Amino acid sequence: MTIQQIVPGSTIGILGGGQLGRMTALAAAELGYACVILTPEPDAPAAQVSALTILADYGDEAALAKFAAAVDVVTLEFENVPAEAVQFLESLGKPVRPGSRVLAVAQDRVAEKDFVRKLGGGTAPYEPVDTLKALIPALERMGRPAVLKTRRMGYDGRGQRILQHRDNPVEAWDAIGGKPAILEGFVKFNREISVIVARGVDGATRAYVPVENRHKDHILSETIAPAPISRHLADQAEALAARIAHALELVGLLAVEMFVTDDGRILVNELAPRPHNSGHWTIDACLVSQFEQLVRAVCGLPLGSPERHADAVMTNLLGNDAYRWPEFIKEPGARLHLYGKSEARPGRKMGHVTRVIPRTDRR
Ligand code: AMP
Repeated sequence: MTIQQIVPGSTIGILGGGQLGRMTALAAAELGYACVILTPEPDAPAAQVSALTILADYGDEAALAKFAAAVDVVTLEFENVPAEAVQFLESLGKPVRPGSRVLAVAQDRVAEKDFVRKLGGGTAPYEPVDTLKALIPALERMGRPAVLKTRRMGYDGRGQRILQHRDNPVEAWDAIGGKPAILEGFVKFNREISVIVARGVDGATRAYVPVENRHKDHILSETIAPAPISRHLADQAEALAARIAHALELVGLLAVEMFVTDDGRILVNELAPRPHNSGHWTIDACLVSQFEQLVRAVCGLPLGSPERHADAVMTNLLGNDAYRWPEFIKEPGARLHLYGKSEARPGRKMGHVTRVIPRTDRR
């Protein structure tokens, strides 16, 4: 197969204008690419560092056509871009990487888990629940505690409820908005980890070392790189992520969030076909960051080395945490990243700090 490279000097289109798009655009600029953003949100963090921003809804075909005409390849920083928008761009002959087939799986928690199971990967026990009437018997089969999540559009704990023994299923159903859902068995995990794997146009994959993720109020608070797990488990997690990326025929990045159980099993929780918050540490501690790796993958360039030259702990700056920047900027060994967001709402991801720690092992 001869690979048509999209060479430096070309333009990358990014669907979505958040911090993931911003850091992708910064990495693209380092390799001589320009970026065009399409986003429905004014004051998008990615717009501040991009050549052009098209402010439009994802359903606006005239805007999508203008976007397509301005770019050589399209990627995304938000996996919930409507499938129709991606299919429309594909119908215009523009490569969208990753494309609509990957999104169809990653946008639906049931399709995602079905896909992982078919490949022989583990997940929590789960059942689709389309109506309140279906929830009651499903809950009896599953047992409690269980977790009820919307099938689509949930993130950072939005659209989900834990059902403890005394909780009323009707209230939980209403709390998630009464939408088609998935009921999952509650996993008593030992830790949460993630693997970010890149897959190129030629099918080559490169994975970053598995990291541990700690959450507060369902939002990622801290990532520890590498995760303190055995070599055997780390290899298993990396191999599973690569297997999923191959099976999806993905071009770009795939973040696979997993639980590690007390008895040493790995269960896949979620797939995100884009740069991931748990990969921000790679900017400061790896030869090639997840953002540059995405640019390389979607442009048909050889993938770079995901090798880390240091260990790292990444801490998200949520809401008012960002006002502590004067403290972080003078801290030795710390690197501060701010996303240019003007309003520090509670829980909003405003920036992150990566503490880089000299490597002691050689894994
Ligand atoms: P998610 O939106 O699926 O990424 O879930 C957000 C967080 O909720 C996860 O990172 C876990 O900490 C927790 N969680 C989600 N699903 C389960 C589950 N089935 N069992 C236990 N905890 C869960």
